[in-house]
Amino acid sequence: MIVDNHNRPITYLRLAVTDRCNLRCFYCMPEEGIRYLPKQQLLTYEEMERLVRVLARLGVSKVRITGGEPFVRSGLMAFMHRLAEVPGLTDLSMTTNGVLTAPHVTALAALGVKSVNLSIDTLDRERFRQITRRDELPAVLHTLDALLAAGIQTKLNAVVMDGQNTQDIIPLAELTRQLPVDVRFIEEMPFNGEGSHYPVLHWTHRRIVDHLLNHFPDLQRLPDSPFSTASTYQIPGHQGTIGVIAAFSRTFCGTCNRIRLTAQGTLKTCLYDNGVLDARALLRSGATDDELTAAFLQAFSHRPANGFEAESRRDTVTESMSTIGG
Ligand code: SAM
Repeated sequence: MIVDNHNRPITYLRLAVTDRCNLRCFYCMPEEGIRYLPKQQLLTYEEMERLVRVLARLGVSKVRITGGEPFVRSGLMAFMHRLAEVPGLTDLSMTTNGVLTAPHVTALAALGVKSVNLSIDTLDRERFRQITRRDELPAVLHTLDALLAAGIQTKLNAVVMDGQNTQDIIPLAELTRQLPVDVRFIEEMPFNGEGSHYPVLHWTHRRIVDHLLNHFPDLQRLPDSPFSTASTYQIPGHQGTIGVIAAFSRTFCGTCNRIRLTAQGTLKTCLYDNGVLDARALLRSGATDDELTAAFLQAFSHRPANGFEAESRRDTVTESMSTIGG
């Protein structure tokens, strides 16, 4: 197993298969004027598979497919089939917005996909339309039903946005009463493609927990699972759990085991860094697997201690989460 310069194992890759998305969540992308990458700048599936094989040999055992929206790239399921065969990978999962996902859920289960993160910031159709700029809540709920029916462990991701969906925190948490889902509330980050953020983040992880406690005074803290970014809670008697992710406060960097590859093949060893290796350029210059391995190891030995250090080493964040692979 490979450890970084802060003795953290690197075992988890988030792989963005596209920067395109069929929603326009305002906290992630501007409504107009998005410049998607030309196709030749995206990694091909063959290139992605090669990088995953090299990383799996280095000890990466978990890959989460993300984007952009994974299902807007054609050929995704064939690629997932190939990944499922990569020696050393024991956990293949996905993050999706659920708009196009439902017809593929049975195939995902058959592939052995253990868990799916489904993004859903509200259960109110009109608010969903305002946040995502698309009227797709029914399709997302259909995917949720399909995931539960297929027995896939489902995490529901909700970004908590001041003045937008804080009234949804309790209804979303209430879902755990009847459903075996993990509802996760995520602090809003500056990755909205516009470089803007709050001078002070009002809905921090602490405030989210206080808000939950006000409504569910018997909310119980569960032990943290290793490498988890979420603090986990449960309301006694409820089937599901509730997670709170300090994505902006960055309280979990000390155990971070994850790296990212963007859709254009840039390695990020921290969500907040600006990209530390152009793996696409290396691949396309004819690098051998040994050369790729050496480049990855070099990057892992210079990881910032935390997201604040990573951010301090770069210019202001202006990118969209869809280009990073959330
Ligand atoms: N399209 C897929 C989806 O919607 O789940 C995968 C990509 S999306 C970029 C991954 C996750 O990043 C989503 O849960 C989304 O809500 C989250 N995200 C995007 N922008 C964010 C921001 N500014 N702050 C916090 N989370 C964000």
